[in-house]
Amino acid sequence: MLNKLGIEWLIARLDLIHPIVSGNKLFKLFYYVQDAIATNKYILVTKGGAYSNHLVASAYYAQLNGLKSIGLVRGEKTEQLSHTLKQCEAWGMQLHYFSRKDYPQINEDNIQQYVSFDKEHCFFITEGGYGISGTKGASLIIDAISSLNPNYITTAVGTGCTLSGLLYNKKTQAKIIAVPVLKGFHDLEKSMCDLLELQTPLYFEVFNEYHFGGYAKKNETLLQFMNTFYVENDIPTDFVYTGKMIYAIWDKVKSGYFPKGSKIISIHTGGLQGNLSLPKGTLVF
Ligand SMILES: *Cc1c(COP(=O)(O)O)cnc(C)c1O
Repeated sequence: MLNKLGIEWLIARLDLIHPIVSGNKLFKLFYYVQDAIATNKYILVTKGGAYSNHLVASAYYAQLNGLKSIGLVRGEKTEQLSHTLKQCEAWGMQLHYFSRKDYPQINEDNIQQYVSFDKEHCFFITEGGYGISGTKGASLIIDAISSLNPNYITTAVGTGCTLSGLLYNKKTQAKIIAVPVLKGFHDLEKSMCDLLELQTPLYFEVFNEYHFGGYAKKNETLLQFMNTFYVENDIPTDFVYTGKMIYAIWDKVKSGYFPKGSKIISIHTGGLQGNLSLPKGTLVF
C-alpha cells in the first residue's frame, strides 16, 4: 500500500538502544547527567509512578555513569512491586514511596521533610526529565536522522519534552507531527512555548484523536493493530506510546493525509517494558 501511494515510511528504532529502557528517555537524560557529573553531584533524584519509563531509565543511566539514584514513587508501596520498580531496584535505585496526596507537593526544596539524605550531593531531575536540559537532549535525536531528509517526523507525546527537542533542533525542515497519548492535551502549543521560552509558537501538527481513551488506556483495536504491525514488519510497539503513534500515522496514511512522494520518519521511542503489565498472551511478541 505504501508503494502504491508513493510514500516512504521509516521507523527510527530508538527501542533498539536498550531492551528495557526507553530510547527517548536516555536522550532526555543526557545533559542532566552531564551537569550532575560536572557539579560533583553523584546522586540522581527523580520522581515517577510505578510504571514510569523515566524512573527506570534514570536508574539505568545513573548506574551506567557510576552515579547513585533515588526514586520518589507515586503511591504507597504494594506487596508485589511492578516490573518497572523491580528493575529500578535491580539497577541500584533507592525507592521512597509517597501517598498520592503528598506526591504532587514533593520537590527539591521540601524533600528533606520526608526523607533524609545527602542533599548536597543530590542532583534533582524533574518528573519525566521535563525541562530545557531534557529538550536539548531530545534534540539530539534529530542529529541522528536529519541526513535522511524526511518531510515528516512523528513522535508520541507524554509530557511533550521529546517533542520540544524535535522543534528545538533546526537541522531539519521536516514537519513535526505530535501524537498525544493523553486525553485532552489541548495546550500543547502553549507548553512548547513555555518550555522553549518562545513568544510565538513554532509550527507543528497534532493528531489529537488517537489517545484511545487516555493515558495507558487501550482497546482490542489497538492491541490487534500492534500484533498485526509486528507480524508484518517485525517491529514491536508498546501500548502506552508507540502503538498509538504508529496506529495514528498508519490511519492518516490510509486516509490520504500524506501526499505522494512523502518520506515519513516515525520515532520509535521505546517503552516496550510497559507491555509486561499486560496479561500474558495479549501480544504475540
Ligand atoms: C516517555 C515516553 C514518551 C513521551 O515522551 P515525552 O517527552 O514525555 O513527551 C514517548 N514514548 C515512550 C516510549 C516514552 O517512554
